[in-house]
Parts: sequence; structure tokens; C-alpha cells
Amino acid sequence: MPMHDNLNPQAESHLHGPLFKNALETLEEAAKLINCDPNILERLRRPRRSITVSVPVRMDDQSVKVFTGYRVQYNSTLGPYKGGIRYHQNVDLTEVVGLAALMTFKNSVLGLPLGGAKGGVCVDPTKLSRTEKQNLTRRYASEISSFIGPTKDIPAPDVGTDPQTMAWFMDTYSQEQGGYAQPGVVTGKPVEIGGSLGRNHATGLGVIYVCERAMEMIGMKMSGSRIVIQGFGNVGSFAAKFAFERGARIIAVSDVSGGIHNGDGLNIPQLIEYVKQNKTIKGFPHSQPVSNEQLLELDCDALLPCALEGQIDTHNAENIKCKLIVEGANGPVTNAATKILHKRKIFIAPDVIANGGGVIVSYFEWVQDIMSFFWDEADVDSKLKGIILKAFDTSYKLQQEKNIDMRSAAMAVSVQRLEKAMLLRGLYPR
Ligand code: NAD
Repeated sequence: MPMHDNLNPQAESHLHGPLFKNALETLEEAAKLINCDPNILERLRRPRRSITVSVPVRMDDQSVKVFTGYRVQYNSTLGPYKGGIRYHQNVDLTEVVGLAALMTFKNSVLGLPLGGAKGGVCVDPTKLSRTEKQNLTRRYASEISSFIGPTKDIPAPDVGTDPQTMAWFMDTYSQEQGGYAQPGVVTGKPVEIGGSLGRNHATGLGVIYVCERAMEMIGMKMSGSRIVIQGFGNVGSFAAKFAFERGARIIAVSDVSGGIHNGDGLNIPQLIEYVKQNKTIKGFPHSQPVSNEQLLELDCDALLPCALEGQIDTHNAENIKCKLIVEGANGPVTNAATKILHKRKIFIAPDVIANGGGVIVSYFEWVQDIMSFFWDEADVDSKLKGIILKAFDTSYKLQQEKNIDMRSAAMAVSVQRLEKAMLLRGLYPR
């Protein structure tokens, strides 16, 4: 790869993580498909700006601990940078670069006027008290504050961060801007301070909009279909709810404790209530236990992996019996498994489109904050539908034209959009 010519490997070590390598592989493949300008491809292969900061935090015992935080701004051709902030003990620059690249390609294929970024702090958030988490968030926000803002870079929640974290982040930024409220600096905020209605269920609803459209394309109907869902958290439980409301039979679901199965269909509203009380799906009446491995290989119409990455790989791709996979999680089907499933004529609606509901409604939140004019939930849901299906239809058209898998098609659409915009803007200074 030309990117690594003449480089000091030590100085560039953060560009060699597995996630980023994977993103670069799909980028190269897409670039070939669309015959991308080599100078544009060269620029797309690396992040624009990688920021590393020290975050000193006063702990409850009055000692001071210094954590390391990152913000990687990958590409801003299409608009201000946008991407989540992760608090996790495994966060490092290598991972954040990979995630920032993925956000760039995702925002582009979804047709959002946003660039791609990601941030994080290397910390185990479960070991912090509420006060320590607030101290950490405020200092991290302050350290990166000159690089972010409603027209520059708009963070959002990710693993280990939540609406409360975003509220502290927004308050810190606002105080540093003279005390004037700046709700547009982050999304995923509580509704009371500029959050959007519909954000909580947006990803699960987007998964079902995409599932319905994909079914239509391959000659199936949502009503009466048999659906299997891995994961029953935010994405999986809302996907189950919206599919159930549309007349689908959810024949199996799972969580970290294992799976449950009922060939006639599980009663999803009752299951949601059961999980509220018991914190697990285990033991739900009128169901038989099934392992997570068996669940993935059940005979069904649509399989919705909504839990973890790498669930379908070369060891089980030959055993998958559904007709359609809709990726609610990030990266649940590996690239190698995608090729096997494509040969077996199993249709995959890829993560960059299928789970895009979250970032689409984050975009809506930012727009509403800038306008100071807020929409009702039905309005948010219907605008989400318009954007996510447009992204699906554009990629589907290319997939049909070139007889490729949908993941490759989505990536090609994404890179083509970035290429056009970069050519139009040109290279600064020249
Ligand atoms: P969550 O923490 O709310 O739920 C995760 C679910 O997966 C839980 O039910 C958990 O028990 C289950 N799980 C964990 N390990 C499992 C295992 N080994 N087998 C089966 N189930 C297991 O998380 P979420 O917000 O629903 O996110 C799920 C996935 O979707 C992640 O990959 C996330 O990155 C992706 N995603 C989420 C959003 C969003 O808006 N929440 C947006 C885009 C992508």
C-alpha cells in the first residue's frame, strides 16, 4: 500500500490496528469498484487529525489520577466531524482511528452532511463513582474544547457514555464559551436540554425499516415472517418490538445469558416487561432454551444480529439458514463470511446502513438544536425512514448493476460520494 512507503513504522504504529486495517481493505476494494482517483484514495487512507490529551482527575479519595483521552478527526469533506465518545479500558489511539474511519464511511453512505470522527478515554467507567465520571468528562471536554463545537466537531455517546455524560460535556463547553448554552456541541443529550424525541428507539426502528425494504426486494413480507434476533439490549429489543407490531413472528431471541425459542412466536411486549423485572430473558414462560450458537443457525426468514461483532464467520457461515441478515450490531458478519453468504444467495443488509438510525437521529438532534425548533416523535420517525431507505435503495441499485454483495455496494457509494466532494473542493492550498 502506498500509504506506508517511506514512513517511520514506529511513528505510524496507530495506523496498523486490526479495525483500521479492515476499514482500509474495504476502502481499497470499493476504490477499485468505482475506479477512484488515486490521489483521492491516498488522502482517504489516513486521518486528518489525531489528538491525544492527558486527563487529570481528582478522585474521591482526593488523589489525582491521569487518564489518556483521544479525539480522531478523520475526514470533514462532507461537513463537521461527527462520532461518539467511548469510555473503556481497551481504548487506544489505534482503535479510535479505526472507529473514526468507519464513521466517515457510514455518514457518507447515509448521505448525511457530516464528516467522521471518534473519541475516547482509556478508563474502566464501572470503576468510577458518579462524581469521578463527571470530573473526567468535564476535564476531557475542556482538553479538546478548542477542536470541537457545533460547526466543527459534534461528539455523541458510545460504549460507556450516556445522555448524562453528554449533559456534562455540553455544560462544560458552554461554560467555557462565556456561559452561553451551546446544545449543538453534542448529541444524545436528555430531551430537557436539547435532545431529540425518538433517539432512544432510532437504531432498532431503522433496522426494521431496512429489514422491511430488503424483504420487499427479495420477495418476502414482514407480516407473517419468522425472525431471529441475537441481543436484546437497546437495538435488539426495539427491533423486536417494531417487527412484532408489523405482524412478524419473533421465533427466537438471545442475550448474554443464552437464547429462548418458540416456533409460534414469542410475545414481545410481555418479554420486554419480563426483562424489565428480571434483567434477563432467561426463564421466560412459553419458550425453550437454545444456545447462542444454535440460535444463529435456526431456520428462519430473517436473522438480526444485534449484539456483538464477529458472530458469523467462516466457521458457521455455511450453516446459516436464513434468507436475509440485517446487521443491527457493528460488524457481526466478517468480510470472509460475507463472501460465503453472498455465494449462498443470502442477502445481507450491512451495518453501515442498517444500524444508521442512531446517527441519523443524532444528525436531526443537531439540526433541531441549531434551529431551536423541535419536532414531534412521528416527524422524527418519518424523516428517519426517508433517509435510511434512500441510502438502502442507492446501494441496492449499485449492487444489482455490478452483481456484488450489499456491503461492497454500500462502501462503493460511500467512497464515490467522498471522492466527488473532495474533487469539487480541491486540495488546499493547491
Ligand atoms: P446493549 O448493551 O443495550 O445490548 C447488547 C445486548 O447484547 C444485550 O442484550 C446483551 O445481553 C447482549 N449480548 C451480550 N453478549 C452476548 C452474547 N455473547 N450473545 C448474545 N447476546 C449477547 O447494546 P446496544 O446499544 O443494543 O448495541 C448492540 C450493538 O449495536 C453493538 O454492536 C453496538 O455497537 C451496535 N450499535 C448500537 C447503536 C445504538 O444506537 N444503540 C447504534 C449503532 C450500532
